[in-house]
Amino acid sequence: MFRKILIANRGEIAVRIIATARRLGVATVAVHSDADADALHVALADEAVPIGGPQPADSYLRGDRLIEAALATGAEAIHPGYGFLSENPGFVEAVEAAGLTFIGPSAAAIRAMGLKDAAKALMARAGVPVVPGYHGEDQEPEHLALMAGDVGYPVLIKAVAGGGGKGMRRVERAEDFTAALASARAEARTAFGNEDVLIEKWIDCPRHIEVQVFGDGSDAVHLYERDCSLQRRHQKVIEEAPAPGMTPEMRAAMGEAAVRAARAIGYRGAGTVEFIVDGSEGLRPDRFWFMEMNTRLQVEHPVTEAVTGIDLVEWQLRVAAGEPLPLAQDEIPLMGHAFEARLYAEDVPAGFLPATGRLDHLRFADGIRADTGVRTGDRISPWYDPMIAKIVAHGPSRASALNRLARALEETEVAGTVTNLAFLGRLARHPGFAAGEVDTGLIARDLASLTEPVAVAPEITAAAILTAELGDMAPPLQGFSLWGPLRRHARLRRDGEEIAAMLIVEAPGRARVELGGVTLAARLCPEGWEVAGRHPGRVLRTDAQVHVFARQGTVSFEIPDPFDRGGEEAGQGGLTLSPMPGLVREVAVRVGEHVAKGDRLAVIEAMKMEHVLAASRDGRVAEVLVEAGAQVEAGAALVRLEDEDG
Ligand code: ADP
Repeated sequence: MFRKILIANRGEIAVRIIATARRLGVATVAVHSDADADALHVALADEAVPIGGPQPADSYLRGDRLIEAALATGAEAIHPGYGFLSENPGFVEAVEAAGLTFIGPSAAAIRAMGLKDAAKALMARAGVPVVPGYHGEDQEPEHLALMAGDVGYPVLIKAVAGGGGKGMRRVERAEDFTAALASARAEARTAFGNEDVLIEKWIDCPRHIEVQVFGDGSDAVHLYERDCSLQRRHQKVIEEAPAPGMTPEMRAAMGEAAVRAARAIGYRGAGTVEFIVDGSEGLRPDRFWFMEMNTRLQVEHPVTEAVTGIDLVEWQLRVAAGEPLPLAQDEIPLMGHAFEARLYAEDVPAGFLPATGRLDHLRFADGIRADTGVRTGDRISPWYDPMIAKIVAHGPSRASALNRLARALEETEVAGTVTNLAFLGRLARHPGFAAGEVDTGLIARDLASLTEPVAVAPEITAAAILTAELGDMAPPLQGFSLWGPLRRHARLRRDGEEIAAMLIVEAPGRARVELGGVTLAARLCPEGWEVAGRHPGRVLRTDAQVHVFARQGTVSFEIPDPFDRGGEEAGQGGLTLSPMPGLVREVAVRVGEHVAKGDRLAVIEAMKMEHVLAASRDGRVAEVLVEAGAQVEAGAALVRLEDEDG
């Protein structure tokens, strides 16, 4: 085994690799761009090397600097993670030329699978079923149009260098072909610098099922399948293992085809063979076709780890260090069911736009695997993928695993940036998905109901108001937060809309909120405010916001600038009330005296601490309603101010 490895990546995958390396006693070297100097992966690694500016091209894609950093720190091998340089054969060759080990396949294997057209041709020769279509060299538009006609509409145009769903266009009719080709090419040129395309038959009721393979250069096994059919615009959203409805015959046929693909290129390390499956009549062994092979660890590898109990990163390290495959095919277990949901900083109502922001708060459900590269206080920067975490749930059955996923999503707390949490939560509770009716069109068909804004229950708003105004610490702990005035206006803002309420404090820890014509009784419990007999969710107050972590997702409110409130306080008769029950230690003003905002009016003692009550505005003392030495209740009126000219 290696003594020390360098991880040529960032974020959750770097953190994930460090965890296994540490368990195996392998020292780790992190690399980081200037934007990631304080990142979690840097903090967790044994050593860290800065490699350049925030742009990936200046840092994580700088093969030369990565190799230099490995040599300088004495690392023996480089783990590429996924993305960045993980499937770059030139990088593999440079790593090996420097006398280091690349933790992954050979440059030749990556090259063989690098372009979709060449990979398909290779697979067809190896006897692996490929999607019917055209993947030849002639790229003349007329020829491609002719081929599309032969394949039969609808067809899918795909960039041969494609990835991440880019450069793909579904074409329904021959008359739309030329325009679709032009736009697919333009996208491919920008994204990959290669505008060649192939044409595939559009598979009906398509399901994306991929097989995890593992090779040691001479032998290969598979670790069963993952179903990644829950997609939005050809991008995976929730993945699971095994595939719903999988039969032993189909699994054997797919596994065998995938292993044949891996053996055909002498594969070493972790890889994924992606198949498209026609799910219109259940899963049938003659209805799956090779799409492409990813010659790296996949984002969704944790679901395979959950159902096999195998640490895929450990296998990667062992195989790269020269060990044979740790288990034979028939020794690889398959236990229960697992799901992974990708939690992103993105604005779902705005069309899933990537978002940025500082994570004011981040907490995952107890007992759930959450692979993340960020923690509370970190920024989701515009430089990289805005993934916050992968939430992974495992259970003995599909239903129990899905239920755990749904609960885990409901219990996930994120504040400071918008996220797709509510969208994921609704997907996890989608009846069709729960019934196993998965195909790549599910999200698009139900997009409206999966993304429509949910009404915010008044209990949620009330809990936010109570926390913003009174805090959420139970009375003996709260110190001297403001339990008064007895009755006051409270305002919050949500999505640009003003929310006005009346807050009535009845006693410490007991209040009522009048909101939109209803009155809600509230009680402060150790877990926070209970409103109308239930806990709407944990509430967190940050500087200018209150967040309620409700089951439907995080509901965030802005706290308006307190100086906007002057007029209303004056409208309440200028009363200063005791914020808590206590002893009046001192009355500092007399009737008729002029006071300025901030002047000391009275001192209340409670729990052996003194609390100074100050004037909230300029004015004249109209009434003094207590004497020093008196015991008062919370909310008792102490002093009344009036306007100077009043
Ligand atoms: P990329 O490499 O850009 O991710 P893929 O070839 O992996 O592209 O395809 C991405 C997704 O597009 C698949 O998961 C599937 O949902 C859909 N897809 C691909 N090929 C077909 C096809 N022939 N018919 C229907 N859907 C397809």
